[in-house]
Amino acid sequence: MAKRDYYEILGVAKNASEEDLKKAYRKLAMKFHPDRNPGDKQSEEKFKQAKEAYEMLSDESKRAAYDRYGHAGVDPNAAGMAGGAGFGDAFGDIFGEIFGGARRGGGGPQVYRGADLKYSMEITLEQAANGFDTEIRVPSWENCEVCKGSGAKPGTTPKTCHTCGGSGAVRMQQGFFSVQQTCPTCHGNGKEVTDPCVSCDGVGRIRRNKTLQVKIPAGIDDGMRIRSSGNGEPGINGGPSGDLFVEIHIKEHKIFQRDTDDLHCELTIPFTTAALGGDIQVPTLNGKAEISIPEGTQSGKTFRLRSKGIKGVRGAYPGDLYCHVVVETPVRLSDAQKDILRQFEASLSDGGERHSPQSKSWTDRVKEFFS
Ligand SMILES: [Zn+2]
Ligand SMILES: [Zn+2]
Repeated sequence: MAKRDYYEILGVAKNASEEDLKKAYRKLAMKFHPDRNPGDKQSEEKFKQAKEAYEMLSDESKRAAYDRYGHAGVDPNAAGMAGGAGFGDAFGDIFGEIFGGARRGGGGPQVYRGADLKYSMEITLEQAANGFDTEIRVPSWENCEVCKGSGAKPGTTPKTCHTCGGSGAVRMQQGFFSVQQTCPTCHGNGKEVTDPCVSCDGVGRIRRNKTLQVKIPAGIDDGMRIRSSGNGEPGINGGPSGDLFVEIHIKEHKIFQRDTDDLHCELTIPFTTAALGGDIQVPTLNGKAEISIPEGTQSGKTFRLRSKGIKGVRGAYPGDLYCHVVVETPVRLSDAQKDILRQFEASLSDGGERHSPQSKSWTDRVKEFFS
């Protein structure tokens, strides 16, 4: 049901003086006062309306807010998405976003959910794979003891906000849209502190740090977030607190690169082992493993060690470890060593295609290209 215009209720013009308002109200009050009309619901309603209209319009700041924003500017009950030419219904989603999940309070100013907080945590790959328990220090807020959370100096009381008239919200015209926003003066709590508490600077709460226990689950991956409900910023006007999100960043590892649940590492082997074959020890995240390198292994060959990867947070099985072979060419050879290699090379050239099939086919392809 649309609320009636306050000026209309009192039967006065928009530019009515304070004296006009008072006169009009007195007349209506006399007529509809419940004491004079016992049991008459209609009169009672009219009396209430007149009282509300007078209270709003006789307060200079509320009257200014009403003139600018209508009922939404002054009436706590009309706060939120209600009122105002039906914008609320059509653009409910937009308002929802602007208000960050604002709820309507029980006749009081709007309540707001506190903001979410993000905490970045750097962990090692081993910690990510195995999980661990840790503690973090996060900001928390307590009501100021000096002002009991009001933000006003003891002995003084906060006034109704002059910008929004206590509703905590104001309407702004943005192009074709009438958009309701959190009041910039009181930040939505409807109160304005003129004499701020010195202990908390008028904020009403004091920031302290608290220690939180955090359980990092085994298998967590880079960029994942752990939610800690209710440990974000406190809500406004009794609204629920936001959440704390612990965002995980995994440090670069000296040996392993992670690809979801799989691990990859480079396996550098001497060229003699590559040629002759042999057993090689490889590191895994939890201990060592052995790989049998077969004779004639080439650079780029990959060995897969099953289940030596990481079991993801929701994974049923661990991933695999892939070892990518890099054959190392010997450097800084002595003359004697070079001689041995030259003799060796001569021995290879007898049956080049057989010993170096890749090189042979590559040489052939180059020849073909130039011919
Ligand atoms: Zn205080
Ligand atoms: Zn305000």
